[in-house]
Amino acid sequence: MRTIFAGNSICVNKIIVAIDGYSSCGKSTLAKALAKQLGYAYVDSGAMYRAVTLYLLRHGISPENPAAVAEALDHIAIHFERHAGGNRTFLNGEDVEEAIRDMSVSDWVSPVAAIPAVRRAMVKQQQAMGRRRGIVMDGRDIGTVVFPDAELKLFIIAETDERVRRRFLELQQRGMESSRETVRYNLLERDRIDSTRADSPLRQADDALVIDNTHLTPDEQLEKALEMVRQRV
Ligand code: C5P
Repeated sequence: MRTIFAGNSICVNKIIVAIDGYSSCGKSTLAKALAKQLGYAYVDSGAMYRAVTLYLLRHGISPENPAAVAEALDHIAIHFERHAGGNRTFLNGEDVEEAIRDMSVSDWVSPVAAIPAVRRAMVKQQQAMGRRRGIVMDGRDIGTVVFPDAELKLFIIAETDERVRRRFLELQQRGMESSRETVRYNLLERDRIDSTRADSPLRQADDALVIDNTHLTPDEQLEKALEMVRQRV
């Protein structure tokens, strides 16, 4: 399995920004904007777990069979490409950026991400992408496991109703049918699995700074985060 990040730039005094938090709390929105402002690479680590899940679903491999999942990892190559409209995720050479957002993937991604072999493979590649620093990565274990030495760790929170509203809107904008109840159930269920799994559970790193963005606009959130970066650089 290999992952290539196209266009990662090198600069000696660049830092790593690790962003973690529960599902749909605005991590990616912030991470993308921050990376753009700083001229850093952006990596959506959740997209990697989603791509693995998509592969399993397409090949009829049960996410409940860890041995079969571990074997499948040898046939999965994920890479990201930076396009004008944003980063895109590729699975074995195919652009799956839309497909990995489907509800069927959302329903299975947390059990897949709880499998230690999957985590080992993803974390290894994520760490390789951050080797030269100058990266903003969002996920669930970035500040605790992937980059425990990140110069800036952010833990993003938002009220559940607001998270459901945002996720529902996002799915609508992508033309994906769903109900608010389904979205709410999926978010809370993923949060439950992600924070109670044995391997790398979602938790706030001891040295993370918390941003509650329930009542913040994306710009206000970005400004807060940029201020925190300025204090670190
Ligand atoms: O970020 P996103 O919601 O797309 O992530 C999908 C899922 O991938 C999460 O619910 C979680 O199960 C898993 N994940 C993870 N560790 C990460 C990023 C995502 O376990 N660093």
